[in-house]
Amino acid sequence: MKLICIGRNYAQHIEELQNERPDEPVVFLKPDSAILLKQHPFVIPEFSSDIHHEIELVVKISKVGKYIEPKFAHKYYEELTVGIDFTARDLQQRLKDKGLPWEKAKAFDGSAVIGDFISKKVFSSVESLNFELRKNGEAVQKGNSSLMLWTIDELISHVSQYFTLKIGDLIFTGTPAGVAAVKPNDILEGYLQDNKLFRINVK
Ligand code: MG
Repeated sequence: MKLICIGRNYAQHIEELQNERPDEPVVFLKPDSAILLKQHPFVIPEFSSDIHHEIELVVKISKVGKYIEPKFAHKYYEELTVGIDFTARDLQQRLKDKGLPWEKAKAFDGSAVIGDFISKKVFSSVESLNFELRKNGEAVQKGNSSLMLWTIDELISHVSQYFTLKIGDLIFTGTPAGVAAVKPNDILEGYLQDNKLFRINVK
């Protein structure tokens, strides 16, 4: 399975990092070795001194597809969760400055936190889902899917032009504003609407 990640999908987050607003989705991949195993702490890697949390809605693909039209994209996923796209911001900046790929800063071991999945049927609409990251009990990132520049269906359609989507593939749909560094002993909790879907310790 693969993790397909979207960058720059929320206007306020684009502003906070002073990035350009893209005219099509920014896409990168993480390997399955990036998944933080359940019940494991996130260990800050030695190659970075500025690891940022990025809370994101995550969609699990339930059907094989390629060249999926937006109007049919809803048929390709049944479950959602929230996750973290951990990012070594210092390393990413150095790579961006040189125009190099981001993988070392984005796809390292443990960089993908995945919460417990919930059926999308639980929600009246996926177009207006609140989600939130709490750090040590305090809300530090709040998002709503209505603020995405590209909707879930548009993202599924877009990425399926390049990558065949397979059952179990995950799409990280981009982070809202409020990204910041984590430090040892932080406790990070992810919420989708009122559901707490992960809790991890930072070491
Ligand atoms: Mg991200």
